[in-house]
Amino acid sequence: FRELPHFQGLSIYNFSELPLLESFWLKALILGKGKSGLGAGELLRKVGIEYSYYQDGEGSGPAPDWLSFDFAVKSPGFPPEHRLVKLLKERGVPVYGEVELAYRFLKGKLVGITGTNGKSTTTALVYWGLKEVVQELFIGGNYGIPVSQFALETSESSYSVLELSSFQIEDLTSFKGELGAILNVTPDHLNRYTSFEDYLRAKLKLLEHFELVVLNRDDPNLKEVKSPKAVFFSLKGGGDFYYDGRYIRGDGLKVDARELPLKGVHNLENYLCSGAILRLLGLKEEEILRGFKKFRGLPHRTELVGKVRGVTFVNDSKSTNPDSLKKALLSFEKVILIAGGSDKGLDFSSLRPVVKKRVKGLVAIGDTAGKLVESFSSVTRTLTASSMEEAVELAFSLAEEGDVVLLSPGCASFDMFKNFEDRGESFKRAVKRLEERLV
Ligand code: ADP
Repeated sequence: FRELPHFQGLSIYNFSELPLLESFWLKALILGKGKSGLGAGELLRKVGIEYSYYQDGEGSGPAPDWLSFDFAVKSPGFPPEHRLVKLLKERGVPVYGEVELAYRFLKGKLVGITGTNGKSTTTALVYWGLKEVVQELFIGGNYGIPVSQFALETSESSYSVLELSSFQIEDLTSFKGELGAILNVTPDHLNRYTSFEDYLRAKLKLLEHFELVVLNRDDPNLKEVKSPKAVFFSLKGGGDFYYDGRYIRGDGLKVDARELPLKGVHNLENYLCSGAILRLLGLKEEEILRGFKKFRGLPHRTELVGKVRGVTFVNDSKSTNPDSLKKALLSFEKVILIAGGSDKGLDFSSLRPVVKKRVKGLVAIGDTAGKLVESFSSVTRTLTASSMEEAVELAFSLAEEGDVVLLSPGCASFDMFKNFEDRGESFKRAVKRLEERLV
């Protein structure tokens, strides 16, 4: 009972597949009580496995006997170096990631997308493309819907499109999917990894878990990958799938980029990667284009909020590292930037040239405000604000007609907000209040 593989294919509807009657008395410990932990609990409840939660700082009274659990399920946010994870592993209690647990019950074709930036957008693009041709379709993982939540609903004819974070990939063991993709790897999460190389290694582990993997040849960290599984794409030409300055091409595909709704070079990268995935899954050109045209982008990713007295407001709250901030700046000309948030140990100095060229003024917020001012005060005007409302007011006061006030924090949100959605909504509310005040 130390291994779960014998649960593969088990569902509440066919208990006859249970290998041993004692399975009903299995006891699991779920580490972390966020979305993934709750999803895992839901799945275990449906298959009749008893479970308890562990969360740091929660629960009183005597600790349970950790070694009485048959296995543990680790949420991706739960630190792998936690003393409890170590104890369980040392004593032979298997610790499965939430996606790995769900995998034991998943059926049908699996697509897995990772990268530092653009995962959600690309995952959604693949989903919208597949929606044209597939009846049973699921989307989840790091996308906000735990895989455990829908694993039992999948069948041999279904497709599941999974967004996978580096933390989720690290916890995969027996997982095997059909088609994976790594969009890009740039510095992020250096508060959780000891080095960039460690973070890169976690992303590259995707190659072990998929039959074919689509890789960005323009990324210096990916172009050297030598594997019979690799399929390359490139915005510069030369990959199996490429952009020729007007069309996305490869394997007979020819999609006119001018017809695609999402703008910016980063979105071209996302279209190219998802186009390659959809083509490899056998979709026709017109099906891919139809799906792409229907998807209008996710909120909080270079999302247009509105115009106040000729100044455009853009919400890019999901930008949580230097590269996503850079891509947002490359999408606009004259910018008043609102940036900053909680510190992940990232360095912003490489952005100095683009900030110098495009940013007329910076309003820094959050824990990293000082770091940003230090990085950019030599190339642009810098101010600091202690609330989103104040940041929006200050940014507007620096802006002239035709400028863009861009919230693209380049940092996580947890210093001032619940999450990136909360931060983006707070920006939108501040813009609304500004507009009301001015009419
Ligand atoms: P993820 O799920 O990897 O965080 P999202 O699609 O949610 O990716 O986008 C996150 C942030 O990265 C947004 O600020 C978005 O504008 C930016 N972004 C989207 N695609 C890319 C890309 N291919 N390269 C760099 N930045 C990107």
